[in-house]
Amino acid sequence: MNNFQRLKSGEIRMYSMDKRYIKPDGSIVWVHMIVAPLDLSNYHQYSHICLVQDITERKEFEKALNESERSKSVFLSHLPGLVYRCNYDREWTMQYVSNGCYSLTGYSPECLLYNRDLSYNDIISPEYRETLWNKWEHILAKREPFKHEYEIITATGEKKWVLELGQGVFNEKGEVEALEGIVLDISDRKAIEDALKYNNEHDRWTGLYNREYLISLLEKDVKLKKKVKKALIGINQSEVQVLTAKYGFQYTQNLIKKAAEALSRYCTENRLLFHVRENHFVFCIVDYKDKNELVEFSNVIIKTLENLFVTDRISGGIGILEIDRNQNEIGIDLLLRRLLIASERSVSLYGKDYVICFYDEELEALVNRERDIEEALNAIAVDGNTNDELFLQYQPIIDLKTNSISGFEALARLRTEKLGLVSPFEFIPITEKTKLIIPIGEKVIVKAFRFINRLKEQEYDKIGVSINISAIQLLNPDFTDRLFELMSEMQINSKNVGIEITESVFSSNLEKINNVIEKLRNAGIRIAIDDFGTGYSSLARENELNVNCLKIDKYFIDRLLDKDINKAITSDIISMAHKLGHCTIAEGVEYESQLKYLKEHGCYRIQGYLISKPLDEDDAIMFLKKYDKSICCP
Ligand code: C2E
Ligand code: CA
Ligand code: CA
Repeated sequence: MNNFQRLKSGEIRMYSMDKRYIKPDGSIVWVHMIVAPLDLSNYHQYSHICLVQDITERKEFEKALNESERSKSVFLSHLPGLVYRCNYDREWTMQYVSNGCYSLTGYSPECLLYNRDLSYNDIISPEYRETLWNKWEHILAKREPFKHEYEIITATGEKKWVLELGQGVFNEKGEVEALEGIVLDISDRKAIEDALKYNNEHDRWTGLYNREYLISLLEKDVKLKKKVKKALIGINQSEVQVLTAKYGFQYTQNLIKKAAEALSRYCTENRLLFHVRENHFVFCIVDYKDKNELVEFSNVIIKTLENLFVTDRISGGIGILEIDRNQNEIGIDLLLRRLLIASERSVSLYGKDYVICFYDEELEALVNRERDIEEALNAIAVDGNTNDELFLQYQPIIDLKTNSISGFEALARLRTEKLGLVSPFEFIPITEKTKLIIPIGEKVIVKAFRFINRLKEQEYDKIGVSINISAIQLLNPDFTDRLFELMSEMQINSKNVGIEITESVFSSNLEKINNVIEKLRNAGIRIAIDDFGTGYSSLARENELNVNCLKIDKYFIDRLLDKDINKAITSDIISMAHKLGHCTIAEGVEYESQLKYLKEHGCYRIQGYLISKPLDEDDAIMFLKKYDKSICCP
């Protein structure tokens, strides 16, 4: 109203204003109004003219513009990085840089504008400069957006990870006029990513690289078809588990950590160390000269570990696998399995010392054979029918006192079309390792019982048959019950049954084993200790053993062939056994001279090639008949 009064009084000549009207339907109309005096000369009353222009649209546009300016400044001031417009040149000469530049780079925008103090290119960490240039070149040609992560060096010299998002600005001719984009600080995200990556690639306990990382490295080589000479050295420390039982988990864990520390001193760019699984380390050696270099380095490892474990007296196995350039095809899983096989072979073959074992064709053939044997045994174990592939031979044991056959030892044999005849020295350990000895052992027992019944049919009802029983069988809680069950099912008299248990069984579980033995003896079964003298039950402990007979190991029988027979302790073993109330059997007797000595020293039971090799069932019965005759009619 003020303006109108001033207009009326002639103080101002016109005025304008924006005004808002509300229409009857409630919608708003903005108008621009110009008011001026209207001078009509023959009309004395004051009048004025008012021009009203609808400006609703313009008002809305202005409002939106304000809003966008405001949000742009909010966006820019909170952006964890900078916004730029720059020339497409090697310097990335800046035409515009937002204030965020300072907190991102430590330089104010003015320093960078038109390269006043330095160029943006100077801030980019040198190793990325060429890549960035090439990438821009590439995307501009295709008019694609730019996106790249790289590191910058800030004013304080610190490195920072950034993500740049940008695009080219083109003129009508299609030439690049400028580049525009943002550079964001992603160091937080990178730090999290790095931590994640570290955890994914490292073993938490030892801080060494883990199995997954080894696999990823090997996979990468396969993908890139890298042709570098590479080998894996596996260090198998599984023996420390023995110490876990004694001193606890923490103790062995600490030992492993120490080993990790000691071994990691030998790491170089071409020699990475991994803790691939509990108690197993792997060195991955790249670009080595020859086998000798691997052996030499393995010897260094051995020295280190021997020194470290000298008080704990544990050893381990070293397996070496050379990754042949063409071997990439066989798969990483198989490679690692082969390495494990080599290191395990080294542990099992050499026990107390660290020995190096290469994975080569010989070992491969051995492993394949073991697998074939295991397969064959598996098939036999699940086969309900009696299978001829597993059969028994019987080796006579004679009694020199009565000059008669006192019994047979049942010895298991395996013969398949593929494998031929397999020695029990080879397949029994496999059955033990795989626990197949339980079903296979039962089949052996059944076969031996059938033989006893066959002998009975032929009126040889006093002949005993002794069966070899492994520790695993003996410690199986069902063993005695199952044995007694079979005996009653097959109507076997316990006086015909003998059991041979190797001496090494007594090294542990003495009490448990003695309980089982007592049960068996109470049932009337004879028990013999096999391989006596070689193992753990020293003669002193032997009186704790509740057994009938000691089978003196072939080693002591062989000693009787030595030049100075008087030095043989075989006679001492015999007399000691007798004093403790056990009978003795000599095994592996091959020569008359041995037989003579044994007889002279009171060992009357003899088994060995001198009497007979192990015989098939029919031959064993023939032998019995012949032997009987030879006694009757000398
Ligand atoms: P062992 O119980 O000590 O059996 C004696 C081994 O010496 C047998 O070997 C036998 O053939 C061999 N032998 C007998 N007399 C002589 C001789 O005068 N000279 C020589 N050089 N050797 C002789 P075999 O049959 O190869 O058995 C090897 C081992 O396999 C056995 O040693 C036994 O520990 C194990 N074994 C055999 N059958 C079974 C079985 O059914 N169950 C279990 N758990 N182990 C078995
Ligand atoms: Ca035996
Ligand atoms: Ca033996």
